[in-house]
Amino acid sequence: MTPPETIRLTPGKRVLFLTKDPALIRRQLAGELDLTMEDLGVEELLDDINTDAMTPAWVCFSYKPEDIARDAYAGLIVDGERLFGANALRDGGFEVIVSGYRKGVGSSRETATQAEKWSGIRIAIAASFAPIHARNNVSQGVLMGDHEVLRRLQRGEGVPLEEFCRGWDPITREVIRAGGLFPFAKALERGEIELPQPDTGPRPMTMAEKLLARHLVSGHLVGAPGAGRDASDNVRRFVKPGDAVVVRVDGGYSHEFTTAQVHYFLEQEYGPGYTVQDPARFAVFEDHLIYADDVPKMRAFTGKIDTLRELQREFQRHTATQDFSAEGRVSPGICHEVAREQLVEPGDFIQATDSHTCMGGVNNSLSWGVGATEYANLIHSGFTQVEVPESIRFELVGALPDGVTAKDLMLHILLEYARPQATLDRVMEFTGSGIASLSMDERATLTNMATECAARTAIVVADEETFRWLAEWRPGADLERMRRRAVAPDPGARYDGGIHRIDLAAMRPMVAHPGDPDHGVPSDPTNGAFVDEIGEVAIDIAYGGSCTAGKIDDLGFYHRVVSEAVEAGLTVHPQVRFLIQFGSRAVEEHCRAHGMIEAFERAGVTLIQPGCGACIGCGPGVSEGPDEVTVSAINRNYKGRSGPGKLWLASPLTVAASAFTGRITAYRPGMFEAEARARAAS
Ligand code: SF4
Repeated sequence: MTPPETIRLTPGKRVLFLTKDPALIRRQLAGELDLTMEDLGVEELLDDINTDAMTPAWVCFSYKPEDIARDAYAGLIVDGERLFGANALRDGGFEVIVSGYRKGVGSSRETATQAEKWSGIRIAIAASFAPIHARNNVSQGVLMGDHEVLRRLQRGEGVPLEEFCRGWDPITREVIRAGGLFPFAKALERGEIELPQPDTGPRPMTMAEKLLARHLVSGHLVGAPGAGRDASDNVRRFVKPGDAVVVRVDGGYSHEFTTAQVHYFLEQEYGPGYTVQDPARFAVFEDHLIYADDVPKMRAFTGKIDTLRELQREFQRHTATQDFSAEGRVSPGICHEVAREQLVEPGDFIQATDSHTCMGGVNNSLSWGVGATEYANLIHSGFTQVEVPESIRFELVGALPDGVTAKDLMLHILLEYARPQATLDRVMEFTGSGIASLSMDERATLTNMATECAARTAIVVADEETFRWLAEWRPGADLERMRRRAVAPDPGARYDGGIHRIDLAAMRPMVAHPGDPDHGVPSDPTNGAFVDEIGEVAIDIAYGGSCTAGKIDDLGFYHRVVSEAVEAGLTVHPQVRFLIQFGSRAVEEHCRAHGMIEAFERAGVTLIQPGCGACIGCGPGVSEGPDEVTVSAINRNYKGRSGPGKLWLASPLTVAASAFTGRITAYRPGMFEAEARARAAS
């Protein structure tokens, strides 16, 4: 619905404040309390509300937004109970929802926005929004403002719609004025909206800017048949941060958690005969829910999960996109891992319905996650609108010490740069002589976790190792074309987030701790700490896997530790379950071909076939109770995501070493001789 020119609160509708004090939320939901901005300070509002809390995985098993809204905020658990009962948000009669900083961090799931919108929310107020969540709000026509805007609305003032457009680029402003992405796209097709043309002149550009400039679509071609394919690689064009541009999309993918919605939205908007552009460059994956049947708590949702799988198959048949469905209930792998192995090329602009799409930046592409609406729109048209983001550059020098991995480097960056928001909505560019010391798999850990940094994405400069790796994975591929399309930053390119030199030799094994979410300290990937300073932390589960840590080199890290332990006569600690899950079928085949499996089996490791699994609470390795402690090589530790327990993030080496000692322990070569003696003596 197109919003009015002046926004006012609707008489009889209410404002919900998401306060750090859960009792205040309970009273508002019960209709016993109505608050205003004059009653509270911003510091009393919840920060870092993550999309898993707004719509936990099981809520997303429904694909119709009206069904999803029934369980809005089902993941906000206090003292073991849901703070929001079923239909609580909808039945409260709210139209505004208010929180603190970084609303909507975590997964890119658009269901979080849908849960609010289909509960009646039309305005979201926060001190800041996570970038993907903010875009999802724009796509769905939910207005966003700050606490001062709310003060004025609650005083009875009308606030011009233009103020809700402030800070956005000219094209996004048009989307907001139109009431969302689909109404905007249709108005564009009808020729009712004229897009601004970027007029940026020659300037040195970052890698991200170069890639976007190369994908520019001429304004007059938007809406024309075949638009999105007409940008020429031969004409040098220029962009700068803040430019609003329409760009061609080279490819993308969705998975069974999101595809059903994409299919549903396209049918709703364009009818059952809808078409997509260039289906050969788009794909569907069956990876996220592949082992949900093995999790007791998920069994209640088997019917809904089957519906999602079936709708994805229907979408694939309808569109003829590439098919990475499971065969015999075995997934070909996690979408991001398979995409970097097989689909993403240097110089590409890739969009997919998952926040870790950023992992594709390891192949020197510009890749980021989008919501279902945005994806449906771009796969239909072949192009999308983007505000050119700012960039931050990490100049890596030296080499990591033995026993320290890219995951430790990333936990360092999360603590030192993401926590103070230096990476927020920026493209993280990795350059420098230290890149050469990192394998492609290790580089992929860096780009994978850009989303935990609340960055737009990450991209690694291409070198000889990039092309060697691509040639190894894609025999017969046109490497010369890839070399031509690869980008490096221009000398003198502007980095609004600065250029930061990181000496890899100074890195140490790190963890991110689970905080104390029940008392306002969220479990968060930015909770960095050195392993040797956290004291004694006993564990119940050690999990190695996910798109971050299920690659060949990660399996190599686990194997190195496990082999040493087995040689010292050890098996996995009796109090610990150690599970390792392959990132893709190719990774599993590599491990089998290289004789890694035997050591895992002798040590008592549980091996799991490729897929997402425990990382998203849908597979073996999830915690079962709030007191269970997990050390995990996955990328995020938001409360409740991988079970109700406490989850510490760590490197693959730390995870494997901890599995044998029974407590969080950094790996040191030769460490297990002492451990074996200690066990023998006890
Ligand atoms: S492994 Fe985890 S983070 Fe990666 S795509 Fe799957 S659910 Fe998302």
